[in-house]
Amino acid sequence: MPSGDPPLTLADLREIPLVRLKGVGEALDKKLAMMELRTVLDLLQHYPRRWVDRTKKADIAALEVGEEATVFAEVRSAKGRRTRQGRALVEVVVSDGTSLLNISFYNQAWREKQLSPGTEASFFGKLDVYRGKRQMTNPVVDVIGRAGVADEKTGVIVPIYPQSGKADVYTWQLRTIVSEALAKCKARGFADPIDESILDANDLVDRNTALRAIHRPESMPELGAAKQRLIFDEFLRMQVGLVARKRAFAAEQSGIRHDTSGALVDAFLAQLPFALTGDQASALAEIVRDMGAPAPMHRLLQGDVGSGKTVVALAALLTAVQGGYQGAFMAPTEVLAEQHYFGSVRMLEGLTVAAEGGLFADRPVRVELLTNKTPAAERRRISAGLQNGEVDILVGTHALLYGDATFSKLGCVVVDEQHRFGVEQRALLRGKGDEPDVLVMTATPIPRTAAMLIYGDLDRSELREMPPGRTPIATKVVPPNPLDHEAAWEKLRQEIGAGHQAYVVCPLVEDKGKVEAKAATAEYERLQEEELKGLRVGLLHGQMKSAEKEAAMAAFRAHEIDVLVATTVIEVGVDVPNATVMVVEDADRFGLSQLHQLRGRVGRGTAESYCFLFGDPSTEDGEIRLSAMADSTDGFALAEVDLEIRGAGQVFGEKQSGMSDLKLGRIPRDEEAVMQARAVAEAILDDDPALTRHAQLRAEVEELLGDDVEFLFKS
Ligand code: ADP
Ligand code: MG
Repeated sequence: MPSGDPPLTLADLREIPLVRLKGVGEALDKKLAMMELRTVLDLLQHYPRRWVDRTKKADIAALEVGEEATVFAEVRSAKGRRTRQGRALVEVVVSDGTSLLNISFYNQAWREKQLSPGTEASFFGKLDVYRGKRQMTNPVVDVIGRAGVADEKTGVIVPIYPQSGKADVYTWQLRTIVSEALAKCKARGFADPIDESILDANDLVDRNTALRAIHRPESMPELGAAKQRLIFDEFLRMQVGLVARKRAFAAEQSGIRHDTSGALVDAFLAQLPFALTGDQASALAEIVRDMGAPAPMHRLLQGDVGSGKTVVALAALLTAVQGGYQGAFMAPTEVLAEQHYFGSVRMLEGLTVAAEGGLFADRPVRVELLTNKTPAAERRRISAGLQNGEVDILVGTHALLYGDATFSKLGCVVVDEQHRFGVEQRALLRGKGDEPDVLVMTATPIPRTAAMLIYGDLDRSELREMPPGRTPIATKVVPPNPLDHEAAWEKLRQEIGAGHQAYVVCPLVEDKGKVEAKAATAEYERLQEEELKGLRVGLLHGQMKSAEKEAAMAAFRAHEIDVLVATTVIEVGVDVPNATVMVVEDADRFGLSQLHQLRGRVGRGTAESYCFLFGDPSTEDGEIRLSAMADSTDGFALAEVDLEIRGAGQVFGEKQSGMSDLKLGRIPRDEEAVMQARAVAEAILDDDPALTRHAQLRAEVEELLGDDVEFLFKS
């Protein structure tokens, strides 16, 4: 390439297939494709998973017994055999020029093949003595090179690439190809989407330096700076997209200016048996302000289980209703939709709105429930009411969006969600008439950093304060032995005796659905014969018909049932204040946020509540989760722990959150980089809203967001 050409953008790199590199023939190209490596961009973003620092190396001859160290050595021999106990043992002899060292690998038969004579590798472990010989047992191994493979000489810091045995591509090959790629790009260099002044102000190296140094660092500080810059880039692309989307929403004038004078909302608040908490009041004020403005509301209402989101949501819906608009309340499951429906009917009882036509006539606020199970005649009746404006609030599942429900004047949508309410769903709403205001509620407390990534395009209100009068939930991890179990069941029976109710959550079953339902049914039958004998026991699982579920919930609510044996269908939102005991069987197998949600089903009234987590914390994560549960009832604190354990992709779902685009960046670890990227994204968009002067950055964001980007950067 002539050096007069401009520096290479990511888009340029995506255009260069790997076969164009020296050393990549058709066969290797096929193998690389199996690893999703097709272009030079893919390759350069296939970052090392580890870097081994040769300056930290120890000489074998100088190692002391008991010392932990890394040695760099060449394999002399590797032989596999079985021990007398039948364990696989691979005995390897290595040398680093100062001395020989014996290494034993137990239960790693594959090491014999991996460490063939001539292989160069680093070994990290502890030196011990066995039968008078100095040796290491099961050290951490990073293969650096293989005998007879012409190989790029590695520097002081050796990059170890994610390799693939299946594709038959190894780290030393990748190292060679990456070097080829870097050499090929050297003359033109890599273009930077960010102005130098911004880089300087944020103490970031340029992309050219960073992309080289991540693969070929000459020192650990240089590597650190490279990572910092590339992590920043990952977050910046996301934040530019999110901030642009947020601003595009705010700039829209197509929303409804709701009547915020508040007669109906005031009447509603006045008839509640309690006063709003400070957080509820300020969240509602923010919502009402949004709804009165011409830009459609896009707000997230975040609050732990039991923090009182539903009241705020109803007030938002009534803000629409009082001006003659309709509201929709969407829940993630049918059980929840039913629950929201009954709750709404109860709380809205006695409220009236002006009847259509009759100037002085008032009629009750009308709430309806529409789910997949609603019978046809009922459906027609509701549908007619929606179209002539007589249904004020429609409660249902997310299926409301996709169904044929036609509102005459939809003004506000509340989405009680488990997953990301995405762009596609918003587009559907926009298609249902005037653009309604949208309030997304989430009961999963989301740490601030994660919220900035996942909901960075929404305004956010938080309910951190719990309504008064809650008694804390005593949480106990119950170890797997009959005595401890019996003590927990005894407490449950005492609580029932005192007139309270309880939940028992059945073990998770891997292969969900039918199998889980069967397991729950079996446990339900067993408990009735044993621990819960003589009590009124009900069953709730996902495979039951809607009417059966409804009946079970209704019976529990009406206290015709003492103990509800259930699968995780009761996870979210179910609200029976008289329930004071939650037993979770096999609790170590549940996720932390799930456990927190389950525990939130009790402690909703004024009586002291108990949560028993049956579990065998044999895995490390299980142990961390259960003890975190015993230590804290603060959902935000638990959410942080959850994020640390599972990582963002797992917690929020790879696809929904765009987390899969994070190759180096990780939250909560990289919180600072997220905040920095947010600030830079805002500054850039302040200065250049349509990114006309930042074409490269714009192209990168568009690449990330795909089709959903069109309306973002219109000038
Ligand atoms: P969430 O939906 O956030 O889990 P809910 O809205 O279901 O919480 O509220 C939980 C319980 O607390 C309900 O029984 C509700 O009536 C009650 N509640 C809500 N707000 C208050 C308040 N300000 N003071 C007292 N109780 C409240
Ligand atoms: Mg509005």
